Amino acid sequence: MFTQDDLAFDRQHIWHPYTSLHDPLPCYPIVAAQGCELQLADGRHLVDGMSSWWAAIHGYNHPRLNQAMQQQMSQMSHVMFGGITHPAAVALCRQLVAMTPQTLECVFLADSGSIAVEVSMKMAMQYWLGRGETRQQFLTLQRGYHGDTFAAMSVCDPQNSMHSLWRGFLPQHHFADAPECRFGEAWDERDINDFARLIEQHHSQIAAVILEPIVQGAGGMRFYHPRYLQQVREYCDRYGVLLIADEIATGFGRSGKLFACEHADIVPDILCLGKALTGGTMTLSATLTTRDVAETIGRSAAGCFMHGPTFMGNPLACAVASESLALLQEGHWSSQVARIEQQLRDELLPLRDHPQVADVRVLGAIGVVESRTPVEMAAIQQYFVEQGVWIRPFGRLIYLMPPYVIAPAQLAQLTAAIGKALDNPALFRA
Ligand code: PMP
Repeated sequence: MFTQDDLAFDRQHIWHPYTSLHDPLPCYPIVAAQGCELQLADGRHLVDGMSSWWAAIHGYNHPRLNQAMQQQMSQMSHVMFGGITHPAAVALCRQLVAMTPQTLECVFLADSGSIAVEVSMKMAMQYWLGRGETRQQFLTLQRGYHGDTFAAMSVCDPQNSMHSLWRGFLPQHHFADAPECRFGEAWDERDINDFARLIEQHHSQIAAVILEPIVQGAGGMRFYHPRYLQQVREYCDRYGVLLIADEIATGFGRSGKLFACEHADIVPDILCLGKALTGGTMTLSATLTTRDVAETIGRSAAGCFMHGPTFMGNPLACAVASESLALLQEGHWSSQVARIEQQLRDELLPLRDHPQVADVRVLGAIGVVESRTPVEMAAIQQYFVEQGVWIRPFGRLIYLMPPYVIAPAQLAQLTAAIGKALDNPALFRA
């Protein structure tokens, strides 16, 4: 039961992501979710185009994920990880070590994507301390996004993340021009010039390069050329700088490869995973490193890695993540993502000719329609709900990243709703 009173309480007392409590945008009450559909409190069903922000790759209320949680719950939902280990964490970390590149063999479990990024940055700094050097600078890309905590925010795109708000508090890092050569198009050597200049100039102070491989997500939904990533790896090797790959959004098949780094055939020194790790059921992240990084951290003055959250290795989250990875390992994701990619190409690319559209791009199970002017958020959200779909655009980006198990007819409903929205000028700013 969800009443008007509940909605009013929500509006007055509860923050939602990136919203104001002063005159907030409307929220839609969802009371259940099943497969690729969300159920509104009034009984209507919406086809889900978002996978709850890249996470619910197997769809909602999945019987095997539910069962994994129920079984774990009957043993123990949580126990501290300090001085204690448990079967769910060991099983999950075995799977992670096995499915990621061979050199990534040490795992740190934490609570969310942003914390995985914090952990990776701390690891890079402690790695250098272990080598007797103090390095506190990072090199990253404009248009990147790595999370909302302070260290993560300091390597997000300065404009998108409003660095001006935190001036004087946020550490200053180096930002290379965002890659311009697009995935699947011609490579131009000049694309790497700015990155090359920065690493050549500052490498002796740089602890690590941190970037989102191939897909720049929340900073613009851009897909860049694998040569860029290969060159980044080469420069990091040349100058002895660590490479952190933030695959929190791309990990577990979303870009068409199990990990987006595979598009460029490179391996990072530190890998951040989250979101789809638990199939969108619980919050959990993992940061993986090479043995060398792990051992060098151990040689820093602290003698250990200085991080240990209360809910580290939460058994319930580990158990469901383990089952989610087992589902992935059964291998259907690859053909599911390929099928979604084809359908997104067939149904979204023709929208390129629409006068309201600046660009359309598709990679793996990600489809992006970039409009010429920003969307009218409340109006377009309401419009999509009336069309029976859940799509949440931001700025000029209307995008889809559905669960991998979405049926072709459901996906067609999502793409059709976007096509129809473009014909309605009231849904876009002038
Ligand atoms: N890195 C990337 C690439 C992300 O897309 C996100 C979340 N959108 C994060 C980090 C932060 O993850 P979380 O929201 O779980 O803190």
